[in-house]
Amino acid sequence: MTANIIDGNAVAKEVRSRWRGRAETLAVSGIVPGLAVVLVGDDPASRVYVGRKTKACKEIGIHSEVHEFSADAPEEVVLGRIGQLNSNPSIHGILVQLPVPAHINTRRLIEAIDVRKDVDGFNLYNVGALVADSTVFPPCTPYGVLCLLEHTRVPIAGQNVVVVGASNIVGKPMAMMLMKREATVSITHIRTRDLAQYTILADILVVAAGKPNLITAPMVRTGAVVIDVGINRLEDGRLVGDVDFEGVRQKASHITPVPGGVGPMTVTMLLVNTIQAAARTCGIEFEA
Ligand code: NAP
Repeated sequence: MTANIIDGNAVAKEVRSRWRGRAETLAVSGIVPGLAVVLVGDDPASRVYVGRKTKACKEIGIHSEVHEFSADAPEEVVLGRIGQLNSNPSIHGILVQLPVPAHINTRRLIEAIDVRKDVDGFNLYNVGALVADSTVFPPCTPYGVLCLLEHTRVPIAGQNVVVVGASNIVGKPMAMMLMKREATVSITHIRTRDLAQYTILADILVVAAGKPNLITAPMVRTGAVVIDVGINRLEDGRLVGDVDFEGVRQKASHITPVPGGVGPMTVTMLLVNTIQAAARTCGIEFEA
């Protein structure tokens, strides 16, 4: 068996095209979706990510602003700006680009964002609401994975899903979202004994550990759907996921590549959440 490759770029393009139309509809009624990105310090990778987000905003019809602070900016100053953005009616989404410098309490910044503008979905209200099935904004990466599975018409209800990695931004919310879709979910982490005894049972395997080659072909059930969230830069400069792509594609039914799989979906879902946030200000809820 050779897996079908799930083309994240193609799905992202399709989703963006649908939501661009929605942004245009809102603009006709005088609402231009607005995103504010708070960037503290001069981490080069963060700058690249922020650049990608603002470019994507422009292409889809979202007004974006970057609120930059020097690496030694006091926490209170950044909090003050978030407060201003919360009450700015032309800003519908706010995100803090992570990581922030060590003297700043990340949680405090994220908790300061109005829940209705928390388009990254990291605010504790949104995290907790995922459990109660009433989240305001699903976090972008697991939301993007769900969107890829839906586009690929992978059945979820009743399937065995194994999520490798239990972070707050990927693994845990992913598990919760798939459980809500009636999958039977196992979540594994660094202390899981014999990872393969779990992964081999997966109809859908979602890997988000940040470890190249963590998942090899013998660990994967024949015909499984394999979603590789990992992004790892090797010493030779290559970008790879957590899955041995060449080996596992001989066994899986569907697989995401890295790059070009989950990555393009994460930014796409940020755009989706921002347009949805803008729509809600005039009582509209677009279908996901
Ligand atoms: P993270 O916060 O470092 O979490 C990694 C998780 O994987 C932790 O729960 C860790 O367990 C677990 N883990 C580490 N080694 C493991 C092993 N050998 N077996 C099982 N579990 C293991 O990372 P993250 O933010 O979730 O990101 C994970 C990966 O996805 C990274 O490569 C990141 O760059 C990538 N990512 C990609 C996108 C995208 O858009 N494609 C978005 C976000 C993240 P413990 O908690 O027990 O240590």
